[in-house]
Amino acid sequence: MNLDLTGRVAVITGASSGIGAATARSLSAHGAAVVLLARRGDRIQALQQELSDAGRSALAIEADVTDAASLQRAVVGARELGRVDLLVNNAGVMLLSPFEEGHVAEWKQMVDVNVTGVLLTTNAFLDDLRDGGGDIVNISSVAGRTSGRNASVYNATKWGLVGWSDALRMELQEQDVRVGLVEPGAVATELTDHITSETAIAGFKSRFDDMKILESEDIADAVLYMASRPRHAAVNEILVRPALQP
Ligand code: NDP
Repeated sequence: MNLDLTGRVAVITGASSGIGAATARSLSAHGAAVVLLARRGDRIQALQQELSDAGRSALAIEADVTDAASLQRAVVGARELGRVDLLVNNAGVMLLSPFEEGHVAEWKQMVDVNVTGVLLTTNAFLDDLRDGGGDIVNISSVAGRTSGRNASVYNATKWGLVGWSDALRMELQEQDVRVGLVEPGAVATELTDHITSETAIAGFKSRFDDMKILESEDIADAVLYMASRPRHAAVNEILVRPALQP
């Protein structure tokens, strides 16, 4: 199987940790030049250095996916590596809580990052993607296909992402831009560190504490596979659960 991405230029949002950082390493190891976006500049600069030291092409650009102006600066900066032909919309937050606890600010943050952030980022890089074709890989979740207690608003954002993504797939297919979804189950990352609801923290621990959950590299593999298919083959969706996740 050919997984070579030589000549491709990939933008990865949320490249400062977890799935985004692992995806950047993997795409880079398979030949892509990578543009690393996130708010934590120190983290993405360290990753840029790591990849550059390995002789690869990488560029860290601080950007907030909820801020269209910072994304525009990222578009201009990214062109230093060439035309962007692969966008991985990975940045996201999962602030689980029972709806009745009313964490309104956290709901807004999830909608802003997981939905509006993806729309703004895609809009910003769309001209590059259409100008010769490419791929958009949206990182949704098992939570975009099944609902669960304490996840109602997170579910709303990821179900929304799934619906939007498939509509966009049809709108862009004649312009040779493939749009796919990667839907992880539980992955060991920093994602759960930001949950503030004690009920949700306890619920998450009871579901996953005794289970071998996924590593970020398991998801990076799915992104790599999707993006490296020959142009006539569109892998629309990959759902990856830990083997023991119900
Ligand atoms: P992490 O918390 O490790 O990564 C989240 C990334 O999102 C960080 O790099 C963070 O960067 C970035 N981010 C958050 N807010 C913003 C913002 N406003 N602008 C730019 N970047 C932002 O978690 P994961 O790697 O697990 O999460 C990656 C994706 O995978 C998310 O979309 C998540 O919903 C999804 N997912 C994860 C699962 C899991 O179990 N871990 C399961 C299913 C889906 P910074 O703070 O530096 O800006």
